[in-house]
Amino acid sequence: MPDIIQLLPDHVANQIAAGEVVQRPASVVKELLENAIDAEATVIKLIIKEAGKTLIQVIDNGKGMSRTDARLSFERHATSKIKKAEDLFNIHTKGFRGEALASIAAIAHVDLKSKQENQELGTYIKIEGSNIIFQENISTPKGTSIAVKHLFYNIPARRNFLKSNTIETRHIINEFQRVVLAHPTISFSLYHNENEIYHLSSSNLRQRIVAVFGKKTNEKLVPINEVTDIIEINGFVAKPEFAKKKRGEQFFFVNNRFIKNAYLNHAVTSAFESLLSSGYHPSYFLYLTVPPKSIDINIHPTKTEIKFSDEKTLYAILHSTIKHSLGQYNVGPVLDFERSASLDTPYNFKDKKSNSPKIIVDSDFNPFKNEESKSLHFHSKQTKNNQWESLYTDTSIHNVEVEAETVNASLFSEETKTNKTYQIHKKYIVSSIKSGIVYINQNLAHQRILYEEFLENITVKEATSQQLLFPLEISFIKNDIELIKEIKEDLENIGFKFDKILGDSIIINGIPTGIIESQITIIIEQLLEDIKNDIPNASFSQLDIMAKSLAKSLAIKTGTVLNLKEQEEIVNKLFICKQPDLSPFGKTTFITINIEEIDKIFNN
Ligand code: ADP
Ligand code: MG
Repeated sequence: MPDIIQLLPDHVANQIAAGEVVQRPASVVKELLENAIDAEATVIKLIIKEAGKTLIQVIDNGKGMSRTDARLSFERHATSKIKKAEDLFNIHTKGFRGEALASIAAIAHVDLKSKQENQELGTYIKIEGSNIIFQENISTPKGTSIAVKHLFYNIPARRNFLKSNTIETRHIINEFQRVVLAHPTISFSLYHNENEIYHLSSSNLRQRIVAVFGKKTNEKLVPINEVTDIIEINGFVAKPEFAKKKRGEQFFFVNNRFIKNAYLNHAVTSAFESLLSSGYHPSYFLYLTVPPKSIDINIHPTKTEIKFSDEKTLYAILHSTIKHSLGQYNVGPVLDFERSASLDTPYNFKDKKSNSPKIIVDSDFNPFKNEESKSLHFHSKQTKNNQWESLYTDTSIHNVEVEAETVNASLFSEETKTNKTYQIHKKYIVSSIKSGIVYINQNLAHQRILYEEFLENITVKEATSQQLLFPLEISFIKNDIELIKEIKEDLENIGFKFDKILGDSIIINGIPTGIIESQITIIIEQLLEDIKNDIPNASFSQLDIMAKSLAKSLAIKTGTVLNLKEQEEIVNKLFICKQPDLSPFGKTTFITINIEEIDKIFNN
């Protein structure tokens, strides 16, 4: 047998390594920003085009590279940051693997310009897919500029795997936020398609958090400071009343490196214990400083996970520090008492007085109010005139009609029309049907009804919108504002009207009918969260998520008492749905029990 093992050529090895280091444009952003920080830059500019798919450029004013180093920096395992194995246990820099630039250069077009303080002229190197195109002298400011163009140009499979610009931009902004929060004294700016998204001057930590997450964040922050022999803890937690239904703003930094650690997250969240209702997550920005020797950052290639040598003790210290600080700031017991009622029913704002004079709460809110005219009845010819007509093409209208009538005809007996429905346990609507009895879950059924209505509004019909007497300003973090801009048109299609979208807030002057003003913030937040979590690709699925999210937010909740008219409304509308048996999330909306099954029980 001939020998078959051969060494992979460097460019192939680099491409393989690149797969680990560079998953998406945001990974490049992280590596380049970290290199700039390691180079002791005080001003760092990030320029992105088309979600990083065409350009990612980082310009820093750091110490730059010599001619030889500039060339060497693209070699695999070329690093100035460690020299021997022991150094691995004493890492003070972000990078240390010497893989990033080699990996990036293997899968993109890279322009590097760099100059050291004492140099007359700097170096300009152009590389495409690990091949050096040229290297020459150039006049350039002190520091380094690295432009990464056409990422994955030579790996079409990876390029095709990239998500929509919305999602890739979000990943980039997330990565950017982690870096800027870890280094408040460094100035950062971020430009996307020529728009300045962030401009962050050198500041202290509190100012940096506020600059990133908006003015209103300031009042939310409770400072955390603790120094022990093995750890120093600094930073902030948000007061419990600002807890969110999403995990968004949870940041741990260890020795100024963003990390994820479920165990320590538990230490923090459990310190909030009784202060939060279930389903709510505290926001936190916590900076842990430990001796470099006590951690192992080497266990994960992208380095967001680290291992502590004494995790249990850290847990205990962290937990008690947070608890103590919450108590000290007197947010504990008071909020516990005041919060629980409103938090348990986050959607039920109708009885709550609003603080803002701008918000008028509609205390007569009735989800069915605007719908009465559209009321649908069993076997009624109104089915033909119903709002569904416009959703379908001519042929499918016919199908719906037939389907609706078949469902009704087969499910309900003539007597049902006169028969009453009943609500049991504020949860189920029960009604007699031809074959026996039907139990309908009011919440899930209403979700289905609203879902189909919203889909119709989004895709076909001009949505009805109610004008707000006073425009409503709601602030969001930058990231969310970007997302809102992306889905603005869809939001308008379902009835939202925007006056303006500013830097960190939106001004709304119209909302879909059926929504009350005080619900808007929570509905939009939930919507954004759902869109983020679903990571949709096609625009269709994004619309679908919006419809689902709104349906979930607005559906009548379990525990709501329904009068007869409302019960009938649900029954009627459910069974003209295209798919009445499942909620938009695939849960069963109703069950039937045949008379034979009931008979059997009694005959036994
Ligand atoms: P690592 O950061 O793990 O050392 P990289 O591939 O990211 O590996 O970078 C290789 C080397 O190139 C670094 O060790 C550093 O010496 C040099 N370098 C990279 N980016 C910069 C920069 N922006 N300014 C100065 N030197 C840099
Ligand atoms: Mg690096």
